[in-house]
Amino acid sequence: MTMADQLDRAVKDPIGLITDLVTDVEKELGAERIRAAVTAVAGGRAKSRSLAKALAMRSAVLTDGRSPAPRAIGDLLIELRKAGASAIAAPVCAECGKKLRTLQRKGQDWYCSVCGQERAECTACGNVRRVSFRDRKGLPRCKMCPDTDDREPAAVVHELITAIAPGADRDAVAPRPSASRHPTVLNIAREWSGPWNTTLAC
Ligand SMILES: [Zn+2]
Ligand SMILES: [Zn+2]
Repeated sequence: MTMADQLDRAVKDPIGLITDLVTDVEKELGAERIRAAVTAVAGGRAKSRSLAKALAMRSAVLTDGRSPAPRAIGDLLIELRKAGASAIAAPVCAECGKKLRTLQRKGQDWYCSVCGQERAECTACGNVRRVSFRDRKGLPRCKMCPDTDDREPAAVVHELITAIAPGADRDAVAPRPSASRHPTVLNIAREWSGPWNTTLAC
């Protein structure tokens, strides 16, 4: 059958065409069981036509399991394998190549549950990556760019407290880190001849 014939048949007899295309590849399952699986996935007329057309255009998806392809094809592959098909490929994740039993779709591709996670432009580095973090403003960041909070801890605590109690004295709510009173720090400071001596040696 030529491509034109197949596309013609995809409109007139979509279920029959899909069943034939699958039967060409899959020898373990009988035509009846294949037809049942096809009907289960592509029930409606519009859906079965678009599925038949997509398969006519690229029937290799039956054995390589690769998207881009309509979701219904992925569902069909899963359904056929559940029915016992062995020559039909499972859909494979477009990113990591894992064989799938359930699909996550993004655009025309299917992914595993890990690779199918939300993608966006990272606020820090600008690459389009999986969203691993959200910064304090809720903006997306990739796993390479965690939103490290480099503010001084005492300043953060003070900020939080003044939100509740405006005008709170900073030194009262967040005393200076005790590290500066540590003996080693003081000894180092005493060895200095600079102004540190006068401020720290108390
Ligand atoms: Zn994956
Ligand atoms: Zn990034």
